[in-house]
Amino acid sequence: MFLTSGYGYDSPEQAEARFKGTEDGYIYSRYGNPTVSMYEDRMAALEGGENCWATSSGMAAISGALLCQLKSGDRVVAARALFGSSLYVLNEILPRFGIAVTLVDGTDLDQLREALAGGATTVLVESPSNPTLEILDIAEIAKLSHNAGATLIVDNVFATPFFQRPIELGADIVVYSATKYVDGQGRVLGGAIIGTEEFCTDVVQPYIRNTGPSLSPFNAWVLLKGMETMELRIRAQTEAAAKVADFLANAPGVDRVLYPGRADHPQHALAASQMTGFGAIVSFDISGGKEGAFQVLNRLQLISVSNNLGDTKSLITHPETTTHHRLTREERAALGIGSGLVRLSVGLEHIEDLTEDLGAALGKV
Ligand SMILES: *Cc1c(COP(=O)(O)O)cnc(C)c1O
Repeated sequence: MFLTSGYGYDSPEQAEARFKGTEDGYIYSRYGNPTVSMYEDRMAALEGGENCWATSSGMAAISGALLCQLKSGDRVVAARALFGSSLYVLNEILPRFGIAVTLVDGTDLDQLREALAGGATTVLVESPSNPTLEILDIAEIAKLSHNAGATLIVDNVFATPFFQRPIELGADIVVYSATKYVDGQGRVLGGAIIGTEEFCTDVVQPYIRNTGPSLSPFNAWVLLKGMETMELRIRAQTEAAAKVADFLANAPGVDRVLYPGRADHPQHALAASQMTGFGAIVSFDISGGKEGAFQVLNRLQLISVSNNLGDTKSLITHPETTTHHRLTREERAALGIGSGLVRLSVGLEHIEDLTEDLGAALGKV
Protein backbone atom coordinates (compact mmCIF):
# COMPACT_ATOMS: atom_id res chain seq x y z
CA MET A 1 0.00 0.00 0.00
CA PHE A 2 1.56 3.28 -1.16
CA LEU A 3 0.06 5.63 1.41
CA THR A 4 1.68 8.73 0.00
CA SER A 5 0.51 12.00 -1.46
CA GLY A 6 3.69 12.82 -3.35
CA TYR A 7 6.85 11.20 -4.77
CA GLY A 8 10.53 12.06 -4.57
CA TYR A 9 12.70 12.30 -7.67
CA ASP A 10 16.34 11.32 -8.17
CA SER A 11 17.05 14.73 -9.70
CA PRO A 12 15.36 17.86 -11.03
CA GLU A 13 15.99 16.47 -14.51
CA GLN A 14 13.86 13.44 -13.65
CA ALA A 15 11.08 15.67 -12.27
CA GLU A 16 11.20 17.68 -15.50
CA ALA A 17 10.98 14.51 -17.60
CA ARG A 18 8.01 13.18 -15.61
CA PHE A 19 6.12 16.46 -16.00
CA LYS A 20 6.94 16.61 -19.71
CA GLY A 21 5.74 13.02 -20.07
CA THR A 22 8.99 11.82 -21.62
CA GLU A 23 9.52 9.46 -18.65
CA ASP A 24 6.82 7.26 -17.12
CA GLY A 25 6.34 7.53 -13.39
CA TYR A 26 4.28 8.93 -10.58
CA ILE A 27 4.11 12.68 -9.91
CA TYR A 28 1.45 13.25 -7.28
CA SER A 29 -1.35 11.03 -5.94
CA ARG A 30 -4.10 13.22 -7.38
CA TYR A 31 -2.56 12.22 -10.73
CA GLY A 32 -1.89 8.59 -9.93
CA ASN A 33 -0.70 6.18 -7.25
CA PRO A 34 0.60 2.60 -7.54
CA THR A 35 -2.10 1.12 -5.24
CA VAL A 36 -4.80 3.03 -7.10
CA SER A 37 -3.32 1.91 -10.45
CA MET A 38 -3.57 -1.73 -9.35
CA TYR A 39 -7.24 -1.19 -8.46
CA GLU A 40 -7.84 0.47 -11.86
CA ASP A 41 -6.13 -2.35 -13.78
CA ARG A 42 -8.18 -4.99 -11.99
CA MET A 43 -11.48 -3.14 -12.38
CA ALA A 44 -10.81 -2.74 -16.14
CA ALA A 45 -9.95 -6.45 -16.39
CA LEU A 46 -13.06 -7.53 -14.45
CA GLU A 47 -15.27 -5.44 -16.69
CA GLY A 48 -13.56 -6.27 -19.98
CA GLY A 49 -12.84 -2.60 -20.58
CA GLU A 50 -9.68 -1.13 -22.08
CA ASN A 51 -8.99 1.30 -19.26
CA CYS A 52 -10.35 2.51 -15.91
CA TRP A 53 -10.09 5.66 -13.84
CA ALA A 54 -10.66 5.36 -10.13
CA THR A 55 -12.79 7.92 -8.31
CA SER A 56 -13.40 8.74 -4.67
CA SER A 57 -17.06 7.58 -4.77
CA GLY A 58 -19.69 6.26 -7.13
CA MET A 59 -21.16 9.75 -7.52
CA ALA A 60 -17.72 11.12 -8.43
CA ALA A 61 -17.65 8.45 -11.18
CA ILE A 62 -21.14 9.31 -12.49
CA SER A 63 -20.80 13.10 -12.32
CA GLY A 64 -17.24 12.80 -13.70
CA ALA A 65 -18.27 10.55 -16.61
CA LEU A 66 -20.85 13.20 -17.55
CA LEU A 67 -18.96 16.44 -16.87
CA CYS A 68 -15.69 15.31 -18.47
CA GLN A 69 -17.37 15.06 -21.86
CA LEU A 70 -20.22 17.61 -21.76
CA LYS A 71 -20.29 21.30 -22.65
CA SER A 72 -22.90 24.02 -22.77
CA GLY A 73 -25.50 23.34 -25.47
CA ASP A 74 -25.16 19.54 -25.25
CA ARG A 75 -28.01 17.20 -24.41
CA VAL A 76 -28.19 14.21 -22.10
CA VAL A 77 -30.95 11.64 -22.36
CA ALA A 78 -31.43 9.39 -19.35
CA ALA A 79 -33.76 6.66 -18.17
CA ARG A 80 -35.42 8.26 -15.17
CA ALA A 81 -35.18 5.23 -12.88
CA LEU A 82 -31.83 6.26 -11.39
CA PHE A 83 -30.03 6.52 -8.08
CA GLY A 84 -31.29 9.63 -6.19
CA SER A 85 -28.04 11.62 -6.46
CA SER A 86 -27.74 10.81 -10.18
CA LEU A 87 -31.16 12.42 -10.63
CA TYR A 88 -29.92 15.48 -8.68
CA VAL A 89 -26.90 15.83 -11.00
CA LEU A 90 -29.17 15.59 -14.06
CA ASN A 91 -32.01 17.78 -12.82
CA GLU A 92 -30.17 20.40 -10.76
CA ILE A 93 -26.49 20.61 -11.73
CA LEU A 94 -26.19 20.02 -15.48
CA PRO A 95 -28.92 22.55 -16.45
CA ARG A 96 -26.94 25.28 -14.58
CA PHE A 97 -24.23 24.89 -17.21
CA GLY A 98 -26.61 25.06 -20.17
CA ILE A 99 -26.78 21.29 -20.64
CA ALA A 100 -30.26 20.06 -21.56
CA VAL A 101 -31.52 16.89 -19.91
CA THR A 102 -34.39 14.71 -21.09
CA LEU A 103 -35.66 11.97 -18.80
CA VAL A 104 -37.65 9.09 -20.25
CA ASP A 105 -39.18 5.81 -19.16
CA GLY A 106 -36.27 3.58 -20.18
CA THR A 107 -38.49 0.50 -20.48
CA ASP A 108 -40.37 2.25 -23.31
CA LEU A 109 -37.96 2.30 -26.26
CA ASP A 110 -40.34 4.51 -28.28
CA GLN A 111 -39.94 7.26 -25.68
CA LEU A 112 -36.19 6.87 -25.94
CA ARG A 113 -36.29 6.97 -29.77
CA GLU A 114 -38.35 10.15 -29.62
CA ALA A 115 -36.02 11.79 -27.09
CA LEU A 116 -32.99 10.88 -29.23
CA ALA A 117 -34.53 12.19 -32.44
CA GLY A 118 -33.09 15.64 -31.71
CA GLY A 119 -29.61 14.15 -31.12
CA ALA A 120 -27.73 13.80 -27.85
CA THR A 121 -24.18 13.72 -26.56
CA THR A 122 -24.63 10.96 -24.05
CA VAL A 123 -27.23 8.57 -22.66
CA LEU A 124 -27.20 7.42 -19.02
CA VAL A 125 -29.03 4.35 -17.77
CA GLU A 126 -29.02 2.08 -14.73
CA SER A 127 -30.13 -1.57 -14.93
CA PRO A 128 -31.37 -3.06 -12.71
CA SER A 129 -32.45 0.33 -11.41
CA ASN A 130 -32.62 1.63 -7.88
CA PRO A 131 -34.96 0.97 -6.09
CA THR A 132 -37.64 -0.58 -8.32
CA LEU A 133 -35.32 -3.00 -10.19
CA GLU A 134 -36.45 -2.02 -13.68
CA ILE A 135 -34.53 -3.85 -16.38
CA LEU A 136 -33.50 -1.90 -19.46
CA ASP A 137 -32.54 -3.43 -22.80
CA ILE A 138 -28.88 -2.38 -22.88
CA ALA A 139 -28.08 -3.76 -26.37
CA GLU A 140 -31.09 -1.99 -27.93
CA ILE A 141 -30.39 1.25 -26.03
CA ALA A 142 -26.74 1.12 -27.19
CA LYS A 143 -27.90 0.87 -30.83
CA LEU A 144 -30.36 3.76 -30.45
CA SER A 145 -27.72 5.89 -28.67
CA HIS A 146 -25.09 5.26 -31.34
CA ASN A 147 -27.56 6.00 -34.15
CA ALA A 148 -28.18 9.37 -32.49
CA GLY A 149 -24.44 10.04 -32.18
CA ALA A 150 -24.45 9.61 -28.41
CA THR A 151 -22.22 7.57 -26.11
CA LEU A 152 -23.95 5.19 -23.68
CA ILE A 153 -23.02 5.20 -19.97
CA VAL A 154 -24.31 2.28 -17.88
CA ASP A 155 -24.38 2.30 -14.07
CA ASN A 156 -23.77 -1.41 -13.41
CA VAL A 157 -23.74 -1.33 -9.59
CA PHE A 158 -26.72 -3.60 -8.96
CA ALA A 159 -25.64 -6.26 -11.49
CA THR A 160 -21.84 -6.32 -10.89
CA PRO A 161 -19.47 -7.45 -13.67
CA PHE A 162 -20.21 -11.08 -12.75
CA PHE A 163 -23.85 -10.91 -13.85
CA GLN A 164 -23.94 -8.26 -16.58
CA ARG A 165 -21.38 -7.16 -19.19
CA PRO A 166 -22.52 -3.76 -20.51
CA ILE A 167 -19.47 -3.27 -22.78
CA GLU A 168 -20.17 -6.60 -24.51
CA LEU A 169 -23.79 -5.44 -24.91
CA GLY A 170 -22.62 -2.26 -26.67
CA ALA A 171 -22.17 0.32 -23.88
CA ASP A 172 -19.27 2.75 -24.21
CA ILE A 173 -18.71 3.59 -20.57
CA VAL A 174 -19.48 1.66 -17.37
CA VAL A 175 -19.60 3.43 -14.01
CA TYR A 176 -19.42 1.87 -10.56
CA SER A 177 -19.92 2.74 -6.98
CA ALA A 178 -17.22 0.43 -5.59
CA THR A 179 -18.65 1.33 -2.17
CA LYS A 180 -21.24 -1.37 -2.79
CA TYR A 181 -20.23 -4.86 -3.95
CA VAL A 182 -16.52 -4.22 -4.57
CA ASP A 183 -15.85 -3.32 -0.95
CA GLY A 184 -18.94 -5.25 0.05
CA GLN A 185 -18.29 -4.85 3.72
CA GLY A 186 -19.43 -1.30 4.41
CA ARG A 187 -15.97 0.18 4.99
CA VAL A 188 -14.97 2.70 2.32
CA LEU A 189 -16.30 4.81 -0.55
CA GLY A 190 -14.91 4.40 -4.04
CA GLY A 191 -15.87 4.44 -7.69
CA ALA A 192 -14.70 3.68 -11.20
CA ILE A 193 -15.15 4.90 -14.76
CA ILE A 194 -14.37 2.18 -17.30
CA GLY A 195 -14.20 2.71 -21.05
CA THR A 196 -12.02 2.79 -24.12
CA GLU A 197 -8.35 3.73 -23.93
CA GLU A 198 -9.10 6.86 -25.94
CA PHE A 199 -12.00 8.04 -23.76
CA CYS A 200 -10.19 7.31 -20.48
CA THR A 201 -6.88 8.87 -21.50
CA ASP A 202 -8.04 11.84 -23.54
CA VAL A 203 -11.29 12.78 -21.80
CA VAL A 204 -11.50 11.29 -18.28
CA GLN A 205 -7.85 11.58 -17.21
CA PRO A 206 -7.43 15.37 -17.55
CA TYR A 207 -10.81 15.89 -15.87
CA ILE A 208 -10.02 13.72 -12.81
CA ARG A 209 -6.41 14.91 -12.51
CA ASN A 210 -7.35 18.56 -12.52
CA THR A 211 -10.65 18.55 -10.63
CA GLY A 212 -9.50 16.08 -7.95
CA PRO A 213 -12.08 13.35 -7.19
CA SER A 214 -9.16 10.92 -6.89
CA LEU A 215 -9.41 7.67 -4.93
CA SER A 216 -7.31 7.50 -1.77
CA PRO A 217 -4.63 4.77 -1.84
CA PHE A 218 -5.88 3.40 1.47
CA ASN A 219 -9.39 3.00 0.05
CA ALA A 220 -7.94 1.45 -3.12
CA TRP A 221 -6.19 -1.14 -0.95
CA VAL A 222 -9.41 -1.95 0.94
CA LEU A 223 -11.26 -2.25 -2.39
CA LEU A 224 -8.53 -4.56 -3.76
CA LYS A 225 -9.05 -6.85 -0.77
CA GLY A 226 -12.83 -6.69 -1.33
CA MET A 227 -12.37 -7.62 -4.98
CA GLU A 228 -10.75 -10.91 -3.96
CA THR A 229 -14.01 -12.19 -2.41
CA MET A 230 -16.47 -10.24 -4.55
CA GLU A 231 -17.60 -13.09 -6.78
CA LEU A 232 -18.14 -15.47 -3.84
CA ARG A 233 -20.11 -12.83 -1.94
CA ILE A 234 -22.31 -11.72 -4.82
CA ARG A 235 -23.15 -15.30 -5.78
CA ALA A 236 -24.06 -16.30 -2.22
CA GLN A 237 -26.02 -13.09 -1.59
CA THR A 238 -27.90 -13.54 -4.88
CA GLU A 239 -28.82 -17.12 -4.01
CA ALA A 240 -30.20 -15.88 -0.67
CA ALA A 241 -32.01 -12.94 -2.34
CA ALA A 242 -33.90 -15.32 -4.64
CA LYS A 243 -35.08 -17.32 -1.59
CA VAL A 244 -36.01 -14.15 0.30
CA ALA A 245 -38.00 -12.90 -2.74
CA ASP A 246 -39.98 -16.16 -2.90
CA PHE A 247 -40.54 -16.08 0.85
CA LEU A 248 -41.82 -12.47 0.69
CA ALA A 249 -44.15 -13.28 -2.23
CA ASN A 250 -46.07 -15.62 0.10
CA ALA A 251 -45.76 -13.58 3.29
CA PRO A 252 -48.67 -11.73 4.89
CA GLY A 253 -48.61 -7.94 4.64
CA VAL A 254 -46.66 -7.90 1.36
CA ASP A 255 -48.57 -6.47 -1.61
CA ARG A 256 -45.94 -6.87 -4.32
CA VAL A 257 -42.40 -8.24 -4.66
CA LEU A 258 -39.95 -6.89 -7.23
CA TYR A 259 -37.09 -9.24 -8.04
CA PRO A 260 -35.79 -9.68 -11.62
CA GLY A 261 -35.26 -13.42 -11.05
CA ARG A 262 -38.95 -14.06 -10.41
CA ALA A 263 -41.24 -14.95 -13.31
CA ASP A 264 -43.73 -12.28 -12.12
CA HIS A 265 -41.18 -9.44 -12.61
CA PRO A 266 -42.39 -7.31 -15.57
CA GLN A 267 -39.05 -7.62 -17.42
CA HIS A 268 -38.04 -11.10 -16.24
CA ALA A 269 -37.44 -12.41 -19.79
CA LEU A 270 -35.20 -9.46 -20.65
CA ALA A 271 -33.31 -9.86 -17.37
CA ALA A 272 -32.77 -13.56 -18.12
CA SER A 273 -31.47 -12.73 -21.59
CA GLN A 274 -28.93 -10.05 -20.66
CA MET A 275 -27.91 -11.11 -17.13
CA THR A 276 -26.37 -14.34 -15.87
CA GLY A 277 -27.60 -13.70 -12.31
CA PHE A 278 -30.24 -11.42 -10.87
CA GLY A 279 -28.44 -9.70 -8.02
CA ALA A 280 -28.97 -9.43 -4.28
CA ILE A 281 -31.50 -6.61 -4.03
CA VAL A 282 -35.20 -7.29 -3.46
CA SER A 283 -37.80 -4.52 -3.27
CA PHE A 284 -41.31 -5.01 -1.95
CA ASP A 285 -44.48 -3.12 -1.08
CA ILE A 286 -45.74 -3.46 2.47
CA SER A 287 -49.47 -3.07 3.17
CA GLY A 288 -50.48 0.05 5.03
CA GLY A 289 -48.19 2.54 3.26
CA LYS A 290 -45.54 4.41 5.20
CA GLU A 291 -47.01 3.45 8.56
CA GLY A 292 -47.03 -0.25 7.70
CA ALA A 293 -43.50 -0.08 6.29
CA PHE A 294 -42.14 1.77 9.35
CA GLN A 295 -43.79 -0.77 11.69
CA VAL A 296 -42.04 -3.61 9.89
CA LEU A 297 -38.67 -1.83 9.79
CA ASN A 298 -38.93 -1.06 13.51
CA ARG A 299 -39.62 -4.71 14.31
CA LEU A 300 -36.67 -6.17 12.42
CA GLN A 301 -34.06 -7.55 14.80
CA LEU A 302 -31.36 -8.82 12.45
CA ILE A 303 -31.74 -6.67 9.34
CA SER A 304 -30.47 -3.11 9.86
CA VAL A 305 -32.21 0.03 8.67
CA SER A 306 -29.63 1.66 6.36
CA ASN A 307 -29.66 3.31 2.96
CA ASN A 308 -26.33 1.66 2.06
CA LEU A 309 -26.42 -1.55 0.03
CA GLY A 310 -24.18 -4.34 -1.15
CA ASP A 311 -22.89 -5.08 2.35
CA THR A 312 -22.41 -8.56 3.79
CA LYS A 313 -24.94 -7.41 6.39
CA SER A 314 -28.57 -7.23 5.23
CA LEU A 315 -29.79 -3.64 5.01
CA ILE A 316 -33.26 -2.26 4.43
CA THR A 317 -34.43 1.24 3.51
CA HIS A 318 -37.66 3.12 2.80
CA PRO A 319 -36.87 5.02 -0.45
CA GLU A 320 -39.76 7.51 -0.19
CA THR A 321 -38.32 9.04 2.98
CA THR A 322 -34.58 8.47 2.31
CA THR A 323 -32.88 7.97 -1.07
CA HIS A 324 -35.74 9.49 -3.09
CA HIS A 325 -37.19 11.99 -0.60
CA ARG A 326 -36.17 14.97 -2.75
CA LEU A 327 -38.52 13.95 -5.56
CA THR A 328 -42.12 15.10 -5.72
CA ARG A 329 -44.89 12.58 -5.08
CA GLU A 330 -45.65 12.59 -8.84
CA GLU A 331 -42.01 11.92 -9.74
CA ARG A 332 -41.91 9.06 -7.27
CA ALA A 333 -45.18 7.66 -8.59
CA ALA A 334 -43.72 7.68 -12.13
CA LEU A 335 -40.84 5.55 -10.80
CA GLY A 336 -43.13 3.14 -8.96
CA ILE A 337 -41.94 4.33 -5.54
CA GLY A 338 -44.99 4.24 -3.32
CA SER A 339 -45.30 4.86 0.43
CA GLY A 340 -45.14 1.16 1.26
CA LEU A 341 -42.07 0.36 -0.86
CA VAL A 342 -38.92 -0.87 0.88
CA ARG A 343 -35.60 -1.96 -0.64
CA LEU A 344 -33.76 -4.88 0.92
CA SER A 345 -30.08 -5.51 0.22
CA VAL A 346 -29.56 -9.16 1.11
CA GLY A 347 -26.33 -9.98 2.94
CA LEU A 348 -24.58 -13.14 4.02
CA GLU A 349 -26.56 -14.08 7.12
CA HIS A 350 -28.11 -17.54 7.28
CA ILE A 351 -31.18 -17.66 5.05
CA GLU A 352 -33.40 -18.99 7.85
CA ASP A 353 -32.37 -16.14 10.13
CA LEU A 354 -33.36 -13.68 7.40
CA THR A 355 -36.75 -15.22 6.65
CA GLU A 356 -37.47 -15.61 10.35
CA ASP A 357 -36.68 -11.94 10.97
CA LEU A 358 -38.81 -10.78 8.03
CA GLY A 359 -41.62 -13.21 8.86
CA ALA A 360 -41.80 -12.10 12.49
CA ALA A 361 -41.82 -8.41 11.55
CA LEU A 362 -44.43 -8.86 8.78
CA GLY A 363 -46.64 -11.21 10.74
CA LYS A 364 -47.46 -8.49 13.23
CA VAL A 365 -48.54 -5.81 10.72
C1 LIG B 1 -24.63 3.92 -4.25
C2 LIG B 1 -24.91 4.10 -5.68
C3 LIG B 1 -24.35 5.18 -6.37
C4 LIG B 1 -23.50 6.22 -5.69
O1 LIG B 1 -22.32 5.69 -5.17
P1 LIG B 1 -21.53 6.34 -3.92
O2 LIG B 1 -20.33 5.48 -3.79
O3 LIG B 1 -22.45 6.29 -2.75
O4 LIG B 1 -21.20 7.74 -4.31
C5 LIG B 1 -24.65 5.30 -7.71
N1 LIG B 1 -25.44 4.42 -8.34
C6 LIG B 1 -25.99 3.36 -7.72
C7 LIG B 1 -26.86 2.42 -8.46
C8 LIG B 1 -25.74 3.16 -6.37
O5 LIG B 1 -26.30 2.13 -5.73
